[in-house]
Amino acid sequence: MPRQITLADGRTVEVDCLSCALTSGLITPTGGVIYESNHFHIHQDVAYPIRGLVILASKRHFHCMDELSDEEQIEYISLIHKVRSEQRTRLGIDMVYYFYNEDTTHHFHLWMVPRYEWMGQFGKSVESLRPVLLHARNQLNDEENMKKVIEGINELREGLRDFVSRTE
Ligand SMILES: [Zn+2]
Repeated sequence: MPRQITLADGRTVEVDCLSCALTSGLITPTGGVIYESNHFHIHQDVAYPIRGLVILASKRHFHCMDELSDEEQIEYISLIHKVRSEQRTRLGIDMVYYFYNEDTTHHFHLWMVPRYEWMGQFGKSVESLRPVLLHARNQLNDEENMKKVIEGINELREGLRDFVSRTE
């Protein structure tokens, strides 16, 4: 189902799939692209302002894990591994939650959500994820936190700058 997206410059476009619009470059995510290869695109959704949160999306439009090509499978795990490593070394992130659902209205994308101490108030594991994201969206959307989030994006981009996955 097509949806209206308002671009940063104020224009409105209609897209069938938000992931396609992002990974093809039609929409530039706030904070910019963290990493891009032939098969994948990494960015942050700053609507959920959590420092170090990363979305790793395929460039191809598909939904299920068993649709990854051989090359995509290899690059996928090597990219997750690399991002995780940069989250730890550059941003001091000790724990990450990973979230991915095949019935998305977008296309194949993995959320990598850092686990911070303040999230403990919402419990642990999968049931805490939605309240954590909503809290970030509604309570942490201030200038000071957004600055830290953008810094985090820049750090990760720097960390991934020269990364070449094993398939390329
Ligand atoms: Zn798509």
